Amino acid sequence: MPEQILDDISHRRYNPLRGTWLLVSPHRTKRPWQGQQESASKITLPDYDPACYLCPGNKRAQGDTNPKYTNTFVFVNDYSAVKEDQAEYKPEENTKDLSSLLLRAESVTGKCYVLTFAPNHNLTLADLSPKEILPVVQAWTEIYKAHLSPDSPLAKVSLPTKLEPIGLSLAAPNAQYRWMQIFENKGAAMGCSNPHPHGQVWTSTGLPDEAAQELVQQKKYRHEHGGCSLLGDYAKLEMEKEERIVFQNATFLVVCPWWATWPFEVMIISKQHKRALVDFDDEEKQDFAEAIAEVTRRYDNLFETSFPYSSGIHQAPLEGTDEEIEASHFHMHFYPPLLRSATVRKFLVGYELMAEPQRDITPEQAAARLRDCGGTLYRKLLQ
Ligand SMILES: [Zn+2]
Ligand SMILES: [Zn+2]
Repeated sequence: MPEQILDDISHRRYNPLRGTWLLVSPHRTKRPWQGQQESASKITLPDYDPACYLCPGNKRAQGDTNPKYTNTFVFVNDYSAVKEDQAEYKPEENTKDLSSLLLRAESVTGKCYVLTFAPNHNLTLADLSPKEILPVVQAWTEIYKAHLSPDSPLAKVSLPTKLEPIGLSLAAPNAQYRWMQIFENKGAAMGCSNPHPHGQVWTSTGLPDEAAQELVQQKKYRHEHGGCSLLGDYAKLEMEKEERIVFQNATFLVVCPWWATWPFEVMIISKQHKRALVDFDDEEKQDFAEAIAEVTRRYDNLFETSFPYSSGIHQAPLEGTDEEIEASHFHMHFYPPLLRSATVRKFLVGYELMAEPQRDITPEQAAARLRDCGGTLYRKLLQ
């Protein structure tokens, strides 16, 4: 296999999804694996915290009281990064003026939600079964659906469902937003201030840079390869090669991507061409919940710690051209910072900030380690 030599030599790998490169230096990890240096950590948080603004029945900073919810609960962020209403800003359009050329700005409005993953303060996605994660997937789908442009072909998708309704009530947004970013910051290392399991959903009028860049690349690939989806082709290739697969079920493939930047970066990719959450039927939603459970449990088992990461879903824009919507291929990224143990983390510094991302352990090695971390969550065996 010609790629075998890449285990030993420094090289660059291309990320077709962003159109960028990264430096891989596998020779720096030739020393034997040291294993974790800390003892396995138990979670010592209480099941309910009277001071937590996400626990059921508690009062939030701005005075609202959370319902006594049993699975997920969604509310508009009390401290939203973008708001639905604000003062208008219309910059003067004078292209000859240096300020309008070099000091550009545009107004952004939107709506931000917080979504809890469980009523229990001390659980994480890794502790939850696929069945318990399913209501979260349903909530994401409903929020996405409620914000879709009525002109989008996705707004007409209506698959029959036998799933128990989660009882979500959402006020309609004031405006049509362009993009919805579903994400989770887990752990203090990723700047998460509250351990209660939760994620966020931000919608905005503008298309954010990461989304825009991936959309350009996916459209270009589709155009150049007769209507094929970039990630659909990539998933097929990974299933053939079997070198970077961590887990798979009928609907999803979990891989450490060829171009991974973070040491144990993972992507959940839909095997079929699905554009967005609304394209998944009941069984496929269950498969997505299972894929999330597999990733998060393996992460915690890897260094026997509550593994920090940022994760996020990329799918079709809420409002877009037919071309943009058809080129979008549903996937979820996990970017975790840990490298060798619960305390040794990777920083994107120096060369990464000034030149391009760099990694030592190869995605193939990372995938092999995550493959071996399946089974029971380590802390359930500690009691
Ligand atoms: Zn809580
Ligand atoms: Zn993406």
